[in-house]
Amino acid sequence: MSDFPTGQPIQLEPLVARVLAPNPSPYTFTGTQTHLVGISDLAVIDPGPDSPEHLDALLKVIAGRPVRAIVITHTHRDHSPLARALKAATGAPIIGCAPLALDDLGSRADAAFDRDYAPDRVLADGEQVAGSGWTLTAIATPGHTSNHLAFALEETGALFPGDHVMGWSTTVVSPPDGDMADYLASLAKLMLRDDRVYYPAHGEQVDNPRRFVRSLIGHRKQREGQILRLLARDVGTLPAMVEAMYVGLDPRLQRAAQGSVLAHLIDLERRGRVRREGEAWIAI
Ligand SMILES: [Zn+2]
Repeated sequence: MSDFPTGQPIQLEPLVARVLAPNPSPYTFTGTQTHLVGISDLAVIDPGPDSPEHLDALLKVIAGRPVRAIVITHTHRDHSPLARALKAATGAPIIGCAPLALDDLGSRADAAFDRDYAPDRVLADGEQVAGSGWTLTAIATPGHTSNHLAFALEETGALFPGDHVMGWSTTVVSPPDGDMADYLASLAKLMLRDDRVYYPAHGEQVDNPRRFVRSLIGHRKQREGQILRLLARDVGTLPAMVEAMYVGLDPRLQRAAQGSVLAHLIDLERRGRVRREGEAWIAI
C-alpha cells in the first residue's frame, strides 16, 4: 500500500494532487481520495468523511492558498461531510451535486447518505466552476446515486469520476437510489468522451479510460446473463442468486451484492424480461 499513504499529498500531474483520508473499509478500499486542483488557487474535490485528521491534512496541503470551490460528486458519507468544516476553515463555497430530496424520496435515502449536505451552488450537466488555470465541467452520471456528478478538468483531459468508476472494484449500484439502467447509460456517456486519465475517489488512476469503461459495461452484461441463466434454472431469490454468483464473497459485502443483483432485476423487470412473485423472481 505504499502508493496510498494516508494524509500525504501525491502530485498526480502539475495541476492535480491527491490526499487519502483515513477511512479504509471493505467499501472504500484504502479510503476516500480527495483531489486538489490548481496551483495558485484551488478546487477541493470530495473532501471526504467528517475527520479532523483529514481536515488537518488538507489544510496543510492547501497551505493558505485561496480555495475557490469545495466540489462534491455525490452525498455518500465518505465524500461530502467534511465540506462543512472545510468551508468554515477556508470560506470556500460548496459547489456540486444536488442534495437528495429526502422528503420526496423517502426510503431512497439510506444510512450512507449525508443528510446535512447544503450546497451553495448546484451544478447541472455541463455547468462549470473555474479558477486560475483550471476549469471543471460537471458531467451528470447517475446510477451509483441519483445525484452523482463526474468532473472533467478541461485543461489537461483528466476526469474525476467520483464513485461512478473506481480503480479497485466495481461500483455498488444498490436500489432504491442506485439504478442499473442509469448507471449503464452514464457509462455509455463516458464512452463518447476522449478523456486521457481518470482519477477515481477510490483506488488507482485509470490510464486507458475507454477500454476500462468498456470492460465495466461488459462485466454488467455478463452479470445480467448470469441472472437470466439462474432464473431459467428456477434460482430466483436474491440470497440464492448472490450465493451462486459471488463465490467467496466477503460477508461484509453481502448487502452490496444483493443490491447489485436487485438493481439488475429491476432493470430487467422494466424491460419486460422478468416479473416478481413475492420474494421470487421469474423469467418471462
Ligand atoms: Zn459513493
